Amino acid sequence: MTAQRVYCPTCLHEQRWSGDTHEVVSAGGKRRPQSHPQLAAWRVLLNARNGGPAAVAACPCGLPLVGNPGTSIPWQLTLPDGTIDVGPTLTGPVGTLTEAEVTTALETAYLERFRPVKAVFQTVIMAPMILPFALWALMLWTTAYFLYNAFMSLSGAQQMM
Ligand SMILES: [Zn+2]
Repeated sequence: MTAQRVYCPTCLHEQRWSGDTHEVVSAGGKRRPQSHPQLAAWRVLLNARNGGPAAVAACPCGLPLVGNPGTSIPWQLTLPDGTIDVGPTLTGPVGTLTEAEVTTALETAYLERFRPVKAVFQTVIMAPMILPFALWALMLWTTAYFLYNAFMSLSGAQQMM
């Protein structure tokens, strides 16, 4: 049996599978998902459902490990008000869902949380950084304008002589 490379697209954990032997090639674990872990997991699963490498196991970081070729294992996504079972069909708290509905449910639950943080970051961090730059740019322009006028009046005076 040939060895298969199985890896986590999120934290870069990597294993080599040969039969029942799962050898850890790279511990990974340092990289965190850019969005909420449940949303990040769904993006990996969604990619697997649409021809990407299959989600063959769970990574130590909690997100799916993928391998190609492979067979996707059942996965469960957690929402604040229930769970979504990801298998051949998608089953949410109130019945079967489409891929788009799962994306919407997860984005509604987990994407909003990051927006106020971003807005606070832009106001608290970016504004004090931009303000000194704006003042500096204004001073630079004022100085250049003054020097230009001084030079012009000086050269004008020389022409008068
Ligand atoms: Zn991982």
